[in-house]
Amino acid sequence: MLEQWLKELLTAKARSLRFSLFPPVCLLCRQPGQHRLDLCAGCQANLVTMGPCCGRCAEPLAQSGSLCGRCHQQLPVFDNVFAPYLYSPPVTRLITAFKFQRQHSAGHALGILLSKAVKEALRSGQLSSPDCLIPVPLHPWRQISRGFNQAQILARDISRQLDSGPDRLPVSSQLLQRVRKTQPQPGLKLAERRRNLKGVFKMIGKPPPQVALVDDVMTSGSTVNECARVLKKAGCKTVQVWVLARAERPA
Ligand SMILES: [Zn+2]
Ligand SMILES: [Zn+2]
Repeated sequence: MLEQWLKELLTAKARSLRFSLFPPVCLLCRQPGQHRLDLCAGCQANLVTMGPCCGRCAEPLAQSGSLCGRCHQQLPVFDNVFAPYLYSPPVTRLITAFKFQRQHSAGHALGILLSKAVKEALRSGQLSSPDCLIPVPLHPWRQISRGFNQAQILARDISRQLDSGPDRLPVSSQLLQRVRKTQPQPGLKLAERRRNLKGVFKMIGKPPPQVALVDDVMTSGSTVNECARVLKKAGCKTVQVWVLARAERPA
């Protein structure tokens, strides 16, 4: 707990020092950025926000207020999905820079974008406040090779942004663990994705009644659905899914 608090403090201090030494520069167009954000106002306005979507899984649809075909057939285990952006350029550029090129300034910008959207949605009543945030875990070996878990960084950013308000949210990174490695999901069909995830996640301890799973991108929803299944089996009543971007589902 103390170690976590110290890490948070150092990260916040390092960021404030970084912005006092180097003013923010837009990661997309290299123009001056905004206050402590490496994104200019123009590029931020060009990010594609979510339009009409499924009321349960946020699959993009022609009209809001209904369920997609797949949710009509079988409702997912998770209760709702909050995704402020569509997974399309230039959001994709920022996510690639963060996850695969290890540009921490891109991770910080994405964390700020998601945190701001969550904060507004909590204030407006679009979202209800969970008891804690649970980052979708990576397998320990993958986390070591990547050097970080992007979901954990986003969850900590949300927690830090809400730190001073009444909606303070702790991050529980140890509750849910990935105990088996999986094939990377992107090349797989939906049924294969589900099979690929059997027995992958395990609970360590008892979860609180209301949680929000946090991740960078949701595509088929199979991963978060499997996490939600394990969480509900362990006693969770409500599992929300908060992601930065929603991609269209593969066939
Ligand atoms: Zn820009
Ligand atoms: Zn749906």
